[in-house]
Amino acid sequence: MRRVSLLGATGSIGDSALDVIARHPDRFAVAALAAHRNAKKLAALCRRFRPAIAALLDVDAARALERELAGDGLPTRVLAGPEGLIEAARCREADTVLAAIVGAAGLEPTLAAARAGKRLLVANKEALVIGGAAFMRAAREGGATILPIDSEHNAVFQCLPPGYTGDPSAAGIRRIVLTASGGPFRTRDPAGLSAATPDEACAHPNWRMGRKISVDSATMMNKGLEVIEAHHLFGVPSEAIDVVIHPQSVVHSLVEYVDGSVLAQLGHPDMRTPIAQALAWPDRIESGVGSLRLDTLAPLAFEAPDPARFPCLALAYDALAEGGAATVVLNAANEVAVAAFLGGRARFPAIYATCAATLERVATRTVPTLGDALAADAEARRAACAFLDLPADASGMPLAA
Ligand code: NAD
Ligand code: MG
Repeated sequence: MRRVSLLGATGSIGDSALDVIARHPDRFAVAALAAHRNAKKLAALCRRFRPAIAALLDVDAARALERELAGDGLPTRVLAGPEGLIEAARCREADTVLAAIVGAAGLEPTLAAARAGKRLLVANKEALVIGGAAFMRAAREGGATILPIDSEHNAVFQCLPPGYTGDPSAAGIRRIVLTASGGPFRTRDPAGLSAATPDEACAHPNWRMGRKISVDSATMMNKGLEVIEAHHLFGVPSEAIDVVIHPQSVVHSLVEYVDGSVLAQLGHPDMRTPIAQALAWPDRIESGVGSLRLDTLAPLAFEAPDPARFPCLALAYDALAEGGAATVVLNAANEVAVAAFLGGRARFPAIYATCAATLERVATRTVPTLGDALAADAEARRAACAFLDLPADASGMPLAA
C-alpha cells in the first residue's frame, strides 16, 4: 500500500491524481492533502479520503478548515502556514509525495520531500527550474526517487532505457524531442495579441489545466520551462533538446537514439495517464483513460515553432545556456508577469517584455546554493514589478486558490 501526500490537492493535477487514487483503494491511501486556501474543497476531500494531515498555507483558511471538520470524527490533523506544508511533504505517514503546487511556492515543500527520501512525483516544474542541479543533488543525497508527471517528461521517462543513470551518451541517446501543442494562439494574428483576454489565453485547445500553466502554454514559456526541466531531470544538454509543435497533443514526446531509432509515447491528452504511470511504476494500472484509436484520429501534424510568434521559447534556451541564476530570474519574472496579466494589470505581450527586461536588469550570477537561488528569485520579482509599474508587494502574489 502506497501512502500518498498530495501537495496542490485542490488544483487540476490534484483532481486528476485523486481520480486515479480513488480507482485503486487496494493500492493507495491518502496520507496528506495540502493547498493554498480553499478550505471548503479541502474539507470535502478530507471527508472522502480521511488523510492524517490537511495543510493550508493561509492561516485563516486553515482555522476555517478546522472548524468545518470539528465533530466529524476524522483522523485528520489540520496544519497551517509554510511549516504546515513542509510537514505534509515530509511526514512519516507518507512514502510517496505528489508535488503539484503551482509556481515557486512549491519549491520548499517539494525540496523537503526530496530531502526526506520520498518517492517524489514532480508536476511542479518551477521547483525544478529554480532548484536545478542543487535540487537534484538534494534528492540524490536524501535517497528520493524522482518520477516526472509533466506529460512530456513522463513520456521521455517511458522511452528511456530502464535504469537510466543521467548519462545520455552512455545510453546512446542522440536527442530528446519535446512536443508542444502551440496553445490557443498558434494561428492567431500576433498583431491582435495585445487585446487578448485571460480567458482567451486560458482556453487551451487540448488540455484543461490551472490558469498559470495555461497562460504559459499560450506564450510557450511552458515549453521553455520544460526544456530546462528536461535538462535537469535527464542530464541532457540544451543542444540535444528540441521542441516541435504538434497541435493534436497525442505524441507526448520522443527520444532519438544514435542508431536512428526514435521512441515515442502516445496517448489521449489526459494527465491521469502520466499520474497513473508514476504512481504505480514499475507496475501499470488502469487510469480511467480510454484506448487511442489510431484509425479514427485526425492526421497528426508536426511543425517547427515560429520564433517570432513565440519569443519566450528562445528566452528560455538562452537562459539555460547562460546558466547561473538566469533560469531563476526568468521563472520569477514570468510568474510576476503572468499573475499581472491574469489580474488585468498587464497585457499579454508584456509577459515576454517583462521577462526579457528583467533578464537584462538583474545581473545574473552563479547560484551555488538554493539560498542564492531564492535571493535571485526575490530580486527578479522586485525588478519585474518595477518594470510593470506594480507595487513591489505584488511580487509574491498567489496564482491559485
Ligand atoms: P492549479 O492552479 O489548478 O492548482 C494549483 C494548486 O496549488 C492548488 O491546489 C493551489 O491551492 C495550490 N497552491 C497555489 N499556490 C500555493 C501556495 N502558495 N502554497 C500552497 N499551495 C498553493 O494548477 P495545476 O494546473 O494543477 O498545476 C500545478 C503544477 O503542475 C504546476 O506547476 C504546473 O506547471 C504543473 N503541471 C500541470 C499540468 C496540468 O495539466 N494541469 C500538466 C503538467 C504540469
Ligand atoms: Mg507539459
